Amino acid sequence: MSSPALLDLCIAGHWRPGSGEVYETCYPATGEAVAALRAATPADVDEAIEGAHRAWRASGWGSAKPHERAAVLHRVAGLIRRDAERLAQLQRQDNGKPIAETRALVASAAGTFQYMAAACETLEEAITPSRGPYLTMSVHEPMGVVAAITPWNSPIASEAQKLAPALAAGNAVVLKPAEVTPLLALELARLCDEAGLPKGLLSVLPGKGSVIGDAITRHPLVRRVAFTGGTATGRHIARIAADKMMPVSLELGGKSPTMVLEDADLDHAVAGVLYGIFSSSGESCIAGSRLFVARRIQREFVARLVEGARRLRLGDPADERTQMGPLITAAHRASIERHVQAALDDGGRLLCGGRRPAGGLYERGWFYEPTIVEGLDNRSRLAQEEVFGPVLLVLPFDDDEDLIAQANDSVYALAAGIWTRDFQRAWKLARAVQAGTVWINTYKLFSISTPFGGWRDSGLGREKGREGILQYMEQKSLYWGLNEQPLPWAR
Ligand code: NAD
Repeated sequence: MSSPALLDLCIAGHWRPGSGEVYETCYPATGEAVAALRAATPADVDEAIEGAHRAWRASGWGSAKPHERAAVLHRVAGLIRRDAERLAQLQRQDNGKPIAETRALVASAAGTFQYMAAACETLEEAITPSRGPYLTMSVHEPMGVVAAITPWNSPIASEAQKLAPALAAGNAVVLKPAEVTPLLALELARLCDEAGLPKGLLSVLPGKGSVIGDAITRHPLVRRVAFTGGTATGRHIARIAADKMMPVSLELGGKSPTMVLEDADLDHAVAGVLYGIFSSSGESCIAGSRLFVARRIQREFVARLVEGARRLRLGDPADERTQMGPLITAAHRASIERHVQAALDDGGRLLCGGRRPAGGLYERGWFYEPTIVEGLDNRSRLAQEEVFGPVLLVLPFDDDEDLIAQANDSVYALAAGIWTRDFQRAWKLARAVQAGTVWINTYKLFSISTPFGGWRDSGLGREKGREGILQYMEQKSLYWGLNEQPLPWAR
């Protein structure tokens, strides 16, 4: 098979190859090459950031009226919708997610641009209560050049989540997608060009994180980094940011508890727990990977869960009925296999999965069966370490005190789920569990209008919501003197 043609990157208003090594990205379902590109280099990073700074100053984007910036964002939303099917198919190849899921992610990216456009043009500044003969106001200014660094698991949605508010706030953006999934970020840049975003205001720099992401974060002209990825990388970025006195937002890893109480509607809970852990093949920061189930219903619930997991349609991402596609890379599958082996070495029992499916398409792609393990406690490695794959650990609990103590016994605190018909109990548990998002009788719902982020090792700061734009702005207070006389002190 012939190699794909070299793709251009978007650097300081020019479409051209990067200056680094050529590399190929692969379709995880077959291992075939999808795209070839030259990675960016630190010299490309300098060019992109200096170009972004120049474009930011020359274009007047930061001082444009909010409704003018909003008009461009609305056009981007429209162009994403126009190209929705093409983008969804491209993302399927870029990342191996089932087509039904990539269609939803593309739709959510369009919604994000639309929402941030609306938020941008309706954002109000405050006149704060005066405490003397003066008027006080609080206003927000764009920062200049900001960076967005994204992971491979939900391209286009993660990129839009950073790009739309950063641009709405009046900044220039340097976007660094994951090395293995660069295609949707480059497509977004093409659509931003077409929508009339000033040239040079957005650069997209695929390449190795430890080189390109690091160079972007350290660059003195970069005034903020919005990062989504692993906790170790987030810590590294936070250290650099501390030296630069630069704000960061960090959306990091998770090991989210899902709690099924004795009185839960079991049909709903089974469907919700399966969706929570196995959709996106478990490659999701919010995957509900620790299942706490009331001991009294453990046997029945787990039997139903295992039966449901065995019925999941694992296979061709192009098939609309597919529920689980392959994992992102062979190396990632190997890391999941190591986690499962460690769990078995620790005394865990496999209830289903724990292996690669065999035959046909499965032989070529990086597939792994939905896996359920029990027989370990919450201090085990499988309960404490993020697997980022389709692996669920079952943990029984006795009462609410025991449940909350176990659920909160984790370095992560990103999300949680509660399944019960008892609203008072749900309320108490939802307030007691330490997590940035809690779903009650549902799981993995997302809305751009609702803030998202984690506590502790799951992150710093919040994205989404109207306030999301303000994260990309500096706040400024204005005092207007109203004294008719000179200040009394100097009299
Ligand atoms: P990762 O941390 O390896 O990479 C994320 C991004 O950071 C990539 O673009 C990568 O190239 C870049 N990067 C790597 N090293 C860097 C460095 N030294 N300096 C700057 N940038 C660097 O994570 P991943 O493997 O791509 O993604 C999986 C992780 O992301 C999981 O831990 C998952 O939980 C997390 N995640 C979190 C959220 C959230 O919203 N909380 C969402 C999705 C994924």
